Amino acid sequence: MTQSQEFPIICDICVKEGAQLRYVSRSYGEEDNLLVIENVPVISCPHCGQEYLTAETLDEIERCKAAHFRRLRLENFLEEEVWPQIPDSQLGIRLSTAEEEEILGFEE
Ligand SMILES: [Zn+2]
Repeated sequence: MTQSQEFPIICDICVKEGAQLRYVSRSYGEEDNLLVIENVPVISCPHCGQEYLTAETLDEIERCKAAHFRRLRLENFLEEEVWPQIPDSQLGIRLSTAEEEEILGFEE
């Protein structure tokens, strides 16, 4: 059985029909680490007043967060470990993602 917005959504909490799907933006982390994810589908139930995310949505958010923090780790690594050791003449060279990953040992 597939469920979409065309059909009544059954609330996972009180198991009544009529829950609404809406899209919100959510933010994670703070200041320099801030990650904002737009259009996160939230199910909100008018019967029990609960709002929740589906397991699928949570997985997707975890993936976004992992990618985000991985990117931050890369930037910090470059700033703290790599750039200070590079002669000025070589700064400004842009690495490809594959080159970055190789340097950082992110290859799987
Ligand atoms: Zn409910």
